[in-house]
Amino acid sequence: MIAVAIDGPAGAGKSTIAKKAAEELGFIYVDTGAIYRATALACIENHVSLEETAAVEALLPQLDIRIIFFNGEQHILLNDKDVSEAIRTENVSMAASRVSAIPAVRKFLLALQRDFAQNADVIMDGRDIGTVVLPNAQVKIFLTASPEVRAKRRVLQLREKGEPADFDKILFDIVQRDYNDTNRKTAPLKAAETAITVDTSDMTLDEVVHTIVGIIKEQGL
Ligand code: C5P
Repeated sequence: MIAVAIDGPAGAGKSTIAKKAAEELGFIYVDTGAIYRATALACIENHVSLEETAAVEALLPQLDIRIIFFNGEQHILLNDKDVSEAIRTENVSMAASRVSAIPAVRKFLLALQRDFAQNADVIMDGRDIGTVVLPNAQVKIFLTASPEVRAKRRVLQLREKGEPADFDKILFDIVQRDYNDTNRKTAPLKAAETAITVDTSDMTLDEVVHTIVGIIKEQGL
């Protein structure tokens, strides 16, 4: 099986790019952030404080989180309910960043991620895919962009959906999430030793996809 790990900070365009590259290569694309988001949503819905690690841990056995593919699109089921849309709010983004710092949460979600790579050729995106989840991935890419560019992209995305978007608030949240993800003790966001870093700040979407597909093909995969 072939595994491509794409890691990087929030808003670097990982999911859009990984999805397109997977389509071109005929691989399955797995967005691992979605399962952290589903865990965060479960905490919010069950009124479990993210500060209380023990309470979050106690909730985990009650959670059945599944990734399914429907018409080629990834969907997330939380206890049989499709939460693919509900996990995309800014509130859930921040909560996911906090919940993902809890080691028990990371352990709980690890097997789910690894199982995918055993059964199919995958492009998996996240924060620790190349370092922890799939350390033997044949290709490791670290996708990044400046915080300002990432915030600008997010504003455009929200406005396209007709949702309000405040640049300063979004930039603040991105910097905060970067800080949380980079400084947590367990599986912090960092480039794997052998990762190729691609800075997308001045690149178009197509250029990035072309670059990523090129890197994968260069490996003869
Ligand atoms: O990628 P996305 O922004 O959807 O991820 C939401 C949050 O989940 C991130 O801010 C990060 O804290 C966490 N995450 C993680 N490890 C992954 C994927 C996501 O810690 N592999």
